[in-house]
Amino acid sequence: MIPINDLSRGYNLYKEEYEEKALEVLRSGWYILGKELSAFEEEYAKALSDDCYCAGVDNGLDAILLGLNASGIMPGDEIIVQANGYIATMLGVMQCGAVPVFVEPDEYYQLDSANIEAAITPKTKAVLVTHLYGMATRMEPIMDICKKHGLKLFEDCAQSHFAPYKGTYTGLFGDASFFSFYPTKNFGGFGDGGGVVSRDKEIIDRVKVLRNYGSDYRYHNIAMGYNDRLDELQAGLLRVKLKHIKDLLANRDHIAQRYLAEIDNPKVKLPTTAEGCVHTWYQFVVRVDDQDGFREHLKKREIGTDIAWKIPPYLQPVMMEKFGYKRGDYPKTEYICDTIVSLPMMDYMSEEEIDRVIEGVNSYVG
Ligand SMILES: *Cc1c(COP(=O)(O)O)cnc(C)c1O
Repeated sequence: MIPINDLSRGYNLYKEEYEEKALEVLRSGWYILGKELSAFEEEYAKALSDDCYCAGVDNGLDAILLGLNASGIMPGDEIIVQANGYIATMLGVMQCGAVPVFVEPDEYYQLDSANIEAAITPKTKAVLVTHLYGMATRMEPIMDICKKHGLKLFEDCAQSHFAPYKGTYTGLFGDASFFSFYPTKNFGGFGDGGGVVSRDKEIIDRVKVLRNYGSDYRYHNIAMGYNDRLDELQAGLLRVKLKHIKDLLANRDHIAQRYLAEIDNPKVKLPTTAEGCVHTWYQFVVRVDDQDGFREHLKKREIGTDIAWKIPPYLQPVMMEKFGYKRGDYPKTEYICDTIVSLPMMDYMSEEEIDRVIEGVNSYVG
């Protein structure tokens, strides 16, 4: 069986280094808010840009919640998001008291700037872009619209670590950006983890207060904070992974480039990369008319597939009940959800495995 993903492969590539770091942290006797976290925050920010800051938090959802909160988003504010985004993004927005307002995506699955202005109301405070599947959204037109209407701009980079748009990494285009280090992500740890990144040090300082019971210094609490810290063990392991992330992304690109060059089937539409972007392949998403039939065909050949995601966030019961959404509200998104299939993509695949996926896809007749 070729799985859709196998997390042990990434671990095995740098096993000794991870184990050495894990033992070092375990033996240090210091497990929360220590030198691994502060070193990770510094190194991660530096890897993105010379002029940004990072606060490590416990997961991507809380990065969104704390980051929006620290950026001044208030209950009742409307935030424009794409209808084909991930539920966790919407939960972060809603837990902040804000209201997600959906717009349809573009041909690259990213938030379509052409749809933003029609969604702006007097309550709109921000646009929150999710760079989906490992490729950046085309940010320039979105930045222009935000500037024109005085809106804040946020980025959900849970799937787009080190994915550049016109030479700048995602996470550096707006007021603040939110990262997940969940194990399946391109830059994932060995448990839950997340981070907020901003060029505005005050936002990052507020996130650091909010993640630690609202405490700005010891035994002094200035906000109704949370317990949302990134622990020392995860921070230490992420520091190890950070040294190798460029190689890991190159491995993914090798797999993707072989798929792109060798998959040749009129029934299967390959992903395209927008101008100015370098895809980092969190997901390799193809499109087929018969989603189930295609997946069944590959399953018979012992090739794992997935759908990211079958049900768009606004059709989840939690959102339908709250906002009254119904099927048909965002037809383009629903069409995408009904036709996308993710092929195996992970930190390492052998050439034989890549061959088998390509043969499996090419032998599909529909
Ligand atoms: C994974 C993911 C999240 C949530 O991250 P967690 O660390 O799992 O909480 C948020 N947004 C997007 C786009 C994601 O892919």
